[in-house]
Amino acid sequence: MSKSVLIVGGGTAGWITAAYMARMLAADTPGGVSITLVESDEIGTVGVGEGTFPIIRKTMGRIGLDESELIREADATFKQGIRFNHWKRNPADAPDDTYFHPFQVCSQHTDMDLLPYWLLGVAGDVPWAEACTVQERVVDAKLAPKLITHPNYNAPLNYAYHFDAGKLAQVVRRRAMDMGVKRLIDTIDDVNLDENGAIGSVLGRVNGELTADLYIDCSGFRARLIGETLGSEFTSYKDQLFCDRAVAMQVPYDRPDAPIPSCTYATAQDAGWTWDIGLHNRRGVGYVYSSAHCTDEAALDTLRRYVGPGADELKHRQLSFEAGFRKVQWHKNCVGIGLSVGFIEPLEATGISFAEVAALMLCNLFPWSGDTERSARQFNEAMTKRFEHVIDFIKLHYYLSQRTDTAFWRDNRDPASASDYLKGKLEQWRHRPPSFLDIDASHDIFDENSWQYILYGMDFKTDISARAGALRFYDDAKREFESIRQQSQNALSAVPTHRDLVSEVVAHGFRPKKRARA
Ligand code: FAD
Repeated sequence: MSKSVLIVGGGTAGWITAAYMARMLAADTPGGVSITLVESDEIGTVGVGEGTFPIIRKTMGRIGLDESELIREADATFKQGIRFNHWKRNPADAPDDTYFHPFQVCSQHTDMDLLPYWLLGVAGDVPWAEACTVQERVVDAKLAPKLITHPNYNAPLNYAYHFDAGKLAQVVRRRAMDMGVKRLIDTIDDVNLDENGAIGSVLGRVNGELTADLYIDCSGFRARLIGETLGSEFTSYKDQLFCDRAVAMQVPYDRPDAPIPSCTYATAQDAGWTWDIGLHNRRGVGYVYSSAHCTDEAALDTLRRYVGPGADELKHRQLSFEAGFRKVQWHKNCVGIGLSVGFIEPLEATGISFAEVAALMLCNLFPWSGDTERSARQFNEAMTKRFEHVIDFIKLHYYLSQRTDTAFWRDNRDPASASDYLKGKLEQWRHRPPSFLDIDASHDIFDENSWQYILYGMDFKTDISARAGALRFYDDAKREFESIRQQSQNALSAVPTHRDLVSEVVAHGFRPKKRARA
C-alpha cells in the first residue's frame, strides 16, 4: 500500500520539503508517496529568510522550477557572496575595513594550490578573495554572474539568490501542488500518541483527525510535534553565538533603476550586524543583535541610522530567536525540518539550506520498510554534526575580530565563548591553511574554500615560512595570479549589470544558446 506523509506547516521549510519529496518520491504516481501539507491561516510564517546558499540552485532545479519563473515570481536576484564591513577593527580606527566571501572557489585553471603562494606574498598586497577568483571584482561592479544565454541554474560564476520569502513559498507551493501535494488550511490543535509513543494522529480544527505513516514538523519555532508533543530537547548555543533578536524593514530604492548589488552586505554594528539585500523593487534590511548587549529601542535606532532619511516612516518587525538546535530531529514517525528543529543566526544564510539538506536526506532514508529507527539515528547524527560545524563557522566571524570598542565584541573574542573544536583548528591553521581534510564532505555545508575566505578575510595569519623552500612553482603561481587579474578585467566588459540581467529575465526569460549539431 502506498505510504502517506503529513507535513504540518506551510512556511519555506514546509513547502520546500513538500515539493522535494513530491518530486523524489513520486507523489503524482499511484505507487508513490501521498503527501498532504496542512498550514494554518491563523498562525503566520516567520516571513524573513531572503538570503540563500548555492545549494538552493540544485534544490530548485530538482523540483523542476524554471529559473526564469523563480526570478520573476519570487522577485529573486543573484547573490554571489557576502561583503563584510567593519568586522575586523574598531570603525573609528579603520573606516574602510571590509572583506568579501565569494561563492566561487579558487581558480581551478591549474592543479597548483595557489594559497601557499598567496600566503608567501606572491600575489602582492591583494586580499585572498580578490587574488584567487574574478568574482569579487564582478560583484563590486554590481554585475551579474551569468548571461541571458546561459542555461537554467548554470553559470561561469557560482551563485545563490536573494528573494522575497513569502513569494518564494508561493512559487514552491504551486509547483508542489502541481506534483500532487494536497493542501489543507487548518490549525492543528492537538496531537495523539499511540501506545509506542509515536504520533497516532493530529487533530485539525476544521478537518478533525488526520493520520499518516510519517509526520513532518515544519511548524516553525513552535515545534508543535517534535518539541511540544514529543519533547525533543533544544540545546542552546547562546553562550557562543550571542545574537538573539532582529529588527527588519523593507526599504524602497532611491530610484527605480538603482543598481542592485549581487551580494549581501553584512555590516558589523555595536551589538551585532545589519543585513542589506537587494531585490527587484526594494531592499530587505535588518539588524541582528544581542539582547544582552543592546535594547530593542537602541537596535531600532541603529537600523534607522543605517537606512538613513525616511527610515522613521517605514514599518519594522521585531523577531526573537535563540542559537541552537534539537539533537533528536527524527523521533519514531516524526521528523522536524526548518525552524522547528533549530536556527543559527542568519549571518551566512543557512536556515533554508538546513531544510533543503534535511529534505534530501529524508528522501534517501525514507522508511519504506516501516523501520524508522536506523534511519532516524543516521539522520540525527548527521544533522547534529552539520549544526555543530555551522555554529563553529559562524562563530569564526566574530572570534577573529580585533574589535574592542563595545562589550559585544570584547565578549565575542573571549576564548571561553568558542568551542574547543574551533580553537583546536585555529591552532593548527597557524601553521597550515585549512584543507579538504578539515571538512567532512557528507556533513559540512561550508567547505575549505569558505573557511579560507573568512580566515584570511579577517587577517588571520598562517605562518608557512618553514615550507617556503619546498614550494617550487613561484613563477607559475605569479603567472596564475596575473591571469586571474586579467580575467577579472575582461569579465567587467563581458557580463551585464545585475539589474539589466534581472530586468531581461523578468521580461523575456533566459534564452539558452542551442548547441550546434556535430
Ligand atoms: P515558519 O516560516 O515559521 O512557518 C511555520 C508554518 O507552520 C506556518 O505556515 C504556520 O502557519 C504553520 N503552523 C505553525 N503552527 C501550526 C499549527 N498548530 N497548525 C498548522 N500549522 C501551523 N534563512 C535563510 O536561509 N536565509 C536568511 O537570510 C534568513 N534570515 C533570517 C532572519 C531572521 C531574523 C530569522 C528569524 C530567520 C532567518 N532565516 C533565514 C531562517 C528562515 O526564515 C527559515 O529557515 C525559513 O523561513 C523556514 O521557516 P519555517 O518554514 O521553518 O517556519
